[in-house]
Amino acid sequence: MSEVVIQLVYLGAATLFVLALRSLGRPESARRGMRLAAMGMLAAVVATLLNERIVSYEWIIVGVAVGSLAGYPLGMWVPMTAMPQRIALSHAFGALAATLVGIGEFSHDLSEGVARLRAAALGFEVLLGALTVTGSLMAFGKLQELLPGRPITFRFQNVINLTLLTAAAVCLGWVVVDPSAATAFAAMAVLGAVVGVLMVLPIGGADMPVVVSLLNSYAGLAAAATGFAMNNNILIVAGALDGASGLILSVAMSKAMNRSFSNVLFGAFGAPPAVSAPGHAPVGEISPINAEDAALRLAFAGRVILVPGYGLAVSQAQHQARELADLIEKHGGEVKFAIHPVAGRMPGHMNVLLAEAGVPYEKLVDMEDVNPQFAETDVVVVVGANDVVNPAARTDPTSPMYGMPILNVADARSVIVLKRGRGVGFAGIENELFVDPKTSMLFGDAKQSLVQLATEVKAA
Ligand code: NDP
Repeated sequence: MSEVVIQLVYLGAATLFVLALRSLGRPESARRGMRLAAMGMLAAVVATLLNERIVSYEWIIVGVAVGSLAGYPLGMWVPMTAMPQRIALSHAFGALAATLVGIGEFSHDLSEGVARLRAAALGFEVLLGALTVTGSLMAFGKLQELLPGRPITFRFQNVINLTLLTAAAVCLGWVVVDPSAATAFAAMAVLGAVVGVLMVLPIGGADMPVVVSLLNSYAGLAAAATGFAMNNNILIVAGALDGASGLILSVAMSKAMNRSFSNVLFGAFGAPPAVSAPGHAPVGEISPINAEDAALRLAFAGRVILVPGYGLAVSQAQHQARELADLIEKHGGEVKFAIHPVAGRMPGHMNVLLAEAGVPYEKLVDMEDVNPQFAETDVVVVVGANDVVNPAARTDPTSPMYGMPILNVADARSVIVLKRGRGVGFAGIENELFVDPKTSMLFGDAKQSLVQLATEVKAA
């Protein structure tokens, strides 16, 4: 009877996961999506605790206590800008759990003889799990700057990595053919862990978010394999959902960064960018503007678009951006926020920050929809964005950014850029927008500049 109840709860949890993923696709329903996912996870955990194979709850309670103590600060106190490395660490923990379960189950069954199919599932789980643990730790190290962000390359890296991966796959095959081959199982786990390190080291810090998302996908597949090995349906479903969505996200991010997926994985790209090539140095003078003049323009503008970028996240200026938008609207202007898919340092970064500041969702306009609107816009305010508004992506075939879809702010009637100085963006290349005759630069920290603008707009 209890088994029927468990399976029914699992079915409900799986449905909640699917609905959650669907809701997460849109900013206005993302919060609901997170709640649905949390409810699904709670139901799945409770149902699993009813499993009759559990003989004692003591260690489970200890595990829940330690996990909660570690997880709460990670979730609540890590700043948004450090989210990619936090997520990398979570994947490492998740994959470690899958790997340890796989090793535990295999060793436990060894004396009684492991069934071939089960050995295959456990082997797959441990191989992918070990690779994900070390790969995620490398990604964490790079993003946290504990390891050098530049690609650490070595001769014949792709050949060596492929050879090691093939050797690991051969060990897996061996375990499937002879499920008592404990040495092959151990060798496979070690090789998987080594491949994880060697595959991530040659990838630059710049591409780490794509890698983290891919490792998320691997962790999901490892969990699905655990589900097969342990005959647990919810692990199979949740793992498969995780595996598929992680892969889709990785591909979407590569696309938005104008990189082919294989190039991210095998190209040793993403190095901290070199200073721009001399040919790319923009020609022209920067026109500084003070807050008073900029505010006057904004106060009397009909259509205004705010373009948030990484600098807004760094200075945590989302509330000030919303206040400024509200004030401009009080003066009769119409304000929208243009969202580039890779603005900031993680997918949805700007959506999350602006939603936190209470910007209505209908004011957040995606790149494809907002681009045709720039030509009709009086003033664009670029708040700490750089690469995502760099016209070289459209106009300069020699630029490393050429072809990347960008926000066409240069089409607007006038542009005000808020940034601290002449710092380059993530791609490390100069931006002609800043010397465009219709662009004015308001130098300073984004939050302070927005506060000054708000004060002046209020007084206008
Ligand atoms: P960029 O990194 O291109 O530029 C940010 C700009 O903000 C800098 O030029 C900097 O100039 C300015 N800035 C920094 N701190 C402040 C501050 N406190 N106040 C005001 N300005 C500040 O950001 P974008 O959002 O335009 O582009 C994102 C980049 O990140 C893209 O290249 C994208 O490919 C990449 N990326 C994005 C990922 C994602 O998932 N979103 C993942 C991985 C990479 P200054 O120093 O002069 O102030």
